[in-house]
Amino acid sequence: PVAAPVALEARNLVKDFRGFRATNDVTLPIYEGEIHAIIGPNGAGKTTLFNLLSGFLKPTGGEVRLFGERIDTLPPHRIVRRGLSRSFQISSVFPTLTVRENVLVALQSPTALPGQFWTPLSRLETLGARADEILADVGLGTAPGRLAADLSHGEKRQLEIGISLTQDPRVLLLDEPTSGMGSEGIARVIALVRQVARGRTVVLVEHNMSVVSELADRISVLQYGSVIASGRYDDVRQDPRVIEAYLGE
Ligand code: ADP
Repeated sequence: PVAAPVALEARNLVKDFRGFRATNDVTLPIYEGEIHAIIGPNGAGKTTLFNLLSGFLKPTGGEVRLFGERIDTLPPHRIVRRGLSRSFQISSVFPTLTVRENVLVALQSPTALPGQFWTPLSRLETLGARADEILADVGLGTAPGRLAADLSHGEKRQLEIGISLTQDPRVLLLDEPTSGMGSEGIARVIALVRQVARGRTVVLVEHNMSVVSELADRISVLQYGSVIASGRYDDVRQDPRVIEAYLGE
């Protein structure tokens, strides 16, 4: 079979923090349409790599390419316009707004509507319809009027993913989407990630191995800032270097 085209790619990425190398020569292709999990022990450099891929950190060396074009030289909002958006581990939801208002605000952000700082009325109707569509997609269709502050932890994560979807990303980066959740919430997130991954490329940082094994088409394992293994879950988990990295935790 012909390999899928590369959607997002790290090439020889390096990130130093005052002499400490947090990302060490990472070369990593993410193929179009795949769900790719980045795993590794605490401190391995997962968050740093995520920040480099989404433009929130500038690399010390190397490149990030999105659909073949360099993005590491662009500010985050321009990267969003090129088709990559991310969720945050720390909630980006406005607690005093309703669920639907949160999505509407995100839909009206300048990155969602390039070059427009106000919204004509006809456009608001379209945005309202789009907001409802997104809420249905993330499983919050029955809760549009609830205050975001009143949502459960799991529902907040659903809303955050909905907010990332307002940018209609071709590539979606999810930072620990199941963190702090019980088994019911985790099952919901797994279904949700599968749903939003349709027609998209998804990269996620995830600690929970059963989530990784259920969701990921491929995984990459980081240790001390380097990718020590990359491939299908069943192959990678048997790699002696991976077993050793985890035994040391
Ligand atoms: P992970 O997400 O895998 O737990 P991180 O990417 O958060 O790992 O961190 C990797 C390493 O880089 C850690 O040793 C951490 O202390 C260090 N690090 C991360 N960010 C900074 C920073 N802003 N300044 C200095 N060191 C940092």
